[in-house]
Amino acid sequence: MQEKGNISIHTENIFPVIKKFLYSDNEIFLRELVSNAVDATQKLKRLASLGQYQGEVGDVTINISFDEQAKTITISDKGIGMTAEEVKKYINQIAFSGATEFMEKFKEAKDANEIIGRFGLGFYSAFMVADKVEIQTLSYQEGAQAAKWVCDGSTSYEISDGNKTERGTDIILYINQEAEEFLNKSRLEEILNKYCRFLPVPIKFGTKTKSEPDGEDEEGKPKYKSVEEDNIINNTSPAWTKSPAELKDEDYLAFYRELYPFAEEPLFWIHLNVDYPFNLTGVLYFPKIKNDFDIQRNKIKLFSRQVFITDEVKDIVPEFLMLLHGVIDSPDIPLNVSRSFLQADSNVKRISNYITKKVADKLNELFKSERKSFEEKWKDIGLFVKYGMVSEDKFAEKANDFALLQNFDKEFYTLKEYAEKVKDLQKDKNDQIIYLYATDAAKQDSFISAAKNKGYDVLLLDSPIDGHFVNYLEQKAEKTQLKRVDSDVLDKLIQKEEDAKLELSEEESNNVKALFENAIKKDNMQVEVAALASDEMPVTVTMDEFMRRMKDMAQNGGGGMNFYGSLPDNYKVSVNGNHPLIKRILTSADDTEKENLAKQAFDLALLSRGLLTGADLTNFVKRSVSLID
Ligand code: ADP
Repeated sequence: MQEKGNISIHTENIFPVIKKFLYSDNEIFLRELVSNAVDATQKLKRLASLGQYQGEVGDVTINISFDEQAKTITISDKGIGMTAEEVKKYINQIAFSGATEFMEKFKEAKDANEIIGRFGLGFYSAFMVADKVEIQTLSYQEGAQAAKWVCDGSTSYEISDGNKTERGTDIILYINQEAEEFLNKSRLEEILNKYCRFLPVPIKFGTKTKSEPDGEDEEGKPKYKSVEEDNIINNTSPAWTKSPAELKDEDYLAFYRELYPFAEEPLFWIHLNVDYPFNLTGVLYFPKIKNDFDIQRNKIKLFSRQVFITDEVKDIVPEFLMLLHGVIDSPDIPLNVSRSFLQADSNVKRISNYITKKVADKLNELFKSERKSFEEKWKDIGLFVKYGMVSEDKFAEKANDFALLQNFDKEFYTLKEYAEKVKDLQKDKNDQIIYLYATDAAKQDSFISAAKNKGYDVLLLDSPIDGHFVNYLEQKAEKTQLKRVDSDVLDKLIQKEEDAKLELSEEESNNVKALFENAIKKDNMQVEVAALASDEMPVTVTMDEFMRRMKDMAQNGGGGMNFYGSLPDNYKVSVNGNHPLIKRILTSADDTEKENLAKQAFDLALLSRGLLTGADLTNFVKRSVSLID
């Protein structure tokens, strides 16, 4: 039998278009052809299990090989194969039924995936890298005749009797000049490792050698020889394809190492497994996030029936979950469409909600059953939970029950517990509950210990997300404000009814103010005389909470915040009019001593918040020496 014909296609020559357009993504030809081989193999197995194929299934390993001299790559499977009729039907016609549409639409498409999937061009992706493609195939059907199909990349093909004697299909690609990079072992390994690592049928590529004992040499020492063995490159049943009941912790950890060989052990994981109303499996791991947000992102891999598709899952997984690691496998995610279509797709929305809910449930379960260990992991989980709370309302609703606040006594409270803890002592005269927090234990120590001395609680909020989390808490908790401990003197942070009385007359107060202004001489330091307890510091330097938040946001690249970013760091210098030192300064007869004491008290305030540097620090040290001298 021999037959020539034209591929049914309304457009003159589609291949140059495919080739040119898809060039940048051309490595996916291998994914497409190996996927076809896997499909053909699984179809055969299914027929066998249904009793519709009585022959021997035998070894069904898919074999991939290349020949540098002949410039060919061959993909061989032992699947169902095709008869000549089927080749005509499936290869000649089906693939191109959408060709006209394709020619109209290809201009709009963003990448190769989009085109290939939408128009069923899987097989034809071979022409991205090959000038000529040959199919040698033998159908599983009894008495079938082997068929051969050759196409040189024009729209004409040739079909004839083939020479295959074993069931299955060989696809032989005659690699074109521009694609010769693929005639290379490590390049092919790289592509197979990327796309085919977890395919459900064993795939063999090349050989590897191992050394085996080979008797003894003349001196009686053991000899070894190197033996070639088949190199199966894939794990056909990765963890996510199994049922959770089959898996132990070690199995999940081993799979994690397989995915991320260099990563630290994950904290815990979630096994996803739904089949209605959409099909989704996967394992998501919580990594140790620490504070290196960005490094940890984009680690989730998306598969469709164990074929790797992409590690860009941005539109499928909610933003905050991008910090997780692991695998999602769903045939129900439309893979070959534009991003905007993806975002609007109802399955994708459901999947995203499902994952969010699963993650929240898992965290809740851990919190309820092992609160202690949950608290220990909070440093890592917390970053993620807070990120989720500020970005997803649905998640926040659930997370309100298990989100924790940690204070400087290393105690953990849920939001509810904390509100209860501070509601009496930290209520100000306007009925506002004030949560005090610090972001830097070392730099804010004097403020933290002052607050604690007064019986107040201080929260540790030092992660990169906490700036946003502070805003979130204020929005959600009624009559609650958060203030960093160094944003004002303590008595003003939580203002009580009974204000301390200033023991200075108005004239004395003005004198103190002038004296300090003169001693400090800095534009960004506003002096005020305050009535504070006599055991508080004589001078305190603070930065307004609102101002500091704006500046922090500007620094973190908050949009429209540039204005604040450009402002100088303004501080308030609160001189404690009730402190004995201030009285001593006022009553001193010696002007130099007055100025020196004022400077000294001011420098101590700067020192306690880490602001005393450079010449100011040098002068302070000199002055201190002469004072003790
Ligand atoms: P799709 O795989 O999306 O159907 P393809 O263009 O990749 O589109 O393949 C078209 C058809 O050709 C397949 O549906 C299948 O029937 C047949 N086919 C392709 N490769 C093989 C193979 N290795 N073995 C048997 N049939 C195959």
